[in-house]
Amino acid sequence: MTAPQHDIILVDVLSEDAPRIADASEPFLYPDDLGAVRGDGVFETLLVRDGHACNVARHENRFLSSAEMLQLPAPDLDRWRAASGLAVDEWNSRALDRAASDGASADGSVTHRDASMRWVYSRGRESTGLPTGYIMITPAAGAAEARERGVRVMLAERGFELDLGNRAPWALIGAKTLSYAANMAALRYAKEHGFDDVIFTSSEGNLLEGPTSTIILVRGRQLLTPNPGEGVLPGTTQAALFDLAAEQGWECVPAQLTPEDLRTADAVWLVSSVRIAVRVTSLDGEELPSPGVAAEAEFGELCEQALAR
Ligand code: PLP
Repeated sequence: MTAPQHDIILVDVLSEDAPRIADASEPFLYPDDLGAVRGDGVFETLLVRDGHACNVARHENRFLSSAEMLQLPAPDLDRWRAASGLAVDEWNSRALDRAASDGASADGSVTHRDASMRWVYSRGRESTGLPTGYIMITPAAGAAEARERGVRVMLAERGFELDLGNRAPWALIGAKTLSYAANMAALRYAKEHGFDDVIFTSSEGNLLEGPTSTIILVRGRQLLTPNPGEGVLPGTTQAALFDLAAEQGWECVPAQLTPEDLRTADAVWLVSSVRIAVRVTSLDGEELPSPGVAAEAEFGELCEQALAR
């Protein structure tokens, strides 16, 4: 047997009577799982911060709607919540163990590292037709560095028009499916060409989203984002941010946007559950002006508060 994977928590959600912790160092999926062989399933990625999952209700709602779009059996939310609780408790208890073995801090408090919790729900085994469900928690690798440094972004054509979702429900626009190979390919292409991230555009040249993030533009006291669901995944971070920002007097505007809007904005951000908010520092090699340290800190703080509620 290989060494236990202390940094991976795995919970098997569906294969027994109740969710149970599984050994992440042991094989888990069957080879005929349709999630593995066809990407036929859905997922959510949640931030675990200070020992708690963040923005849970929005993730649950998107999980339900993604499953419905793929005509998967409706997930039993009580079961997924119980499984999520098990996973987070296990993550926290390992943090305590680590703190004890490292020598606890002077006041006995435990520092929780940010983590990423994925809920994965696939159509399951081709041979049994029973869905597969699991939850995995891993450390949030690289997120803090990305927030610190920002990202150099490349514009990239996505290859479809804004209204594809209306014309072609089978394209599953707006569902968070397990088929992310094209998104990962775009990120690899960007990295090979000296960029850190990508902003996709539609065939008409409108802004869509990043391969794993939602675009937010700051213009004065306005926040703008491409219309949620129009060629993009509706972001849970963007929704939380817009709710809080509107309460604090920002004007929050979903809109059709173009690359020119990126160049003339006060600041451009990519937001998502685990990286939270990273500023776009350049676009296709052209530097974007910094809004200044105070404005950057204000926006970052707003996003963090929005996720903490
Ligand atoms: N768009 C895509 C394609 C994504 O994969 C993600 C997150 O991974 C997002 C947007 C941002 O969504 P959220 O804020 O819910 O993490």
